[in-house]
Amino acid sequence: MSRILIVEDERKIARFLELELLHEGYEVETAGDGRTGLEKALSWAPDLMILDLMLPELSGIEVCRRLRHESDLPIIMLTAKDDVSDKVMGLDMGADDYMTKPFAIEELLARIRVGLKKHRASASAAAAPSVLSAGKLVLDPARYAVSWDGTPIALTKKEFDLLKYLMEHKGQAVTRDALLSDVWGYDYAGDTNVVDVYIRYLRHKIDEPFGVKTIHTIRAVGYMFSYE
Ligand code: CA
Repeated sequence: MSRILIVEDERKIARFLELELLHEGYEVETAGDGRTGLEKALSWAPDLMILDLMLPELSGIEVCRRLRHESDLPIIMLTAKDDVSDKVMGLDMGADDYMTKPFAIEELLARIRVGLKKHRASASAAAAPSVLSAGKLVLDPARYAVSWDGTPIALTKKEFDLLKYLMEHKGQAVTRDALLSDVWGYDYAGDTNVVDVYIRYLRHKIDEPFGVKTIHTIRAVGYMFSYE
């Protein structure tokens, strides 16, 4: 059953949406401010998010912007007024669709179905890349799943992307710069140490618990995935 996260600070609207969506058979979680909404979007792994733009703590636009670094979760924005600049900004920040309040619930339900369907379609189109494996380590891009000898390993999206990239370049030394531009994106403006931090996360989740060495440090260059 699809999971829908509602991020809306107007309790009446949030409650109304929650009841309607539960009635439709969706699993529903709600958040009353932007910060909690962002946290739940990352931790609860919803299939779609309904996001009000005017929120306390963190605006809907900011939630959208930050979420897009981590996830391609479909987002339907709710705008309180017919504010074109908000809508444009929201869509620029990666929202998929919007509705202006007050809205007809039937229309929102229809847009939710479209959003979920598009997401599933793009997920299965992305399923084309095949499963990567190295010894007992298996990474399945279609399912966003990683396992060791059948035991699932929980990775964040960034950890997953990094591991996928390293496995795709198995046996090749890759530079930090290449990792930053290919995994984080050319527009990444943060600290370059982020690569080392994420390598540490991966070692902590894979090499340490399973007593192996899959990610090797290549001095003065970067890293290399090598394991059979
Ligand atoms: Ca609001």
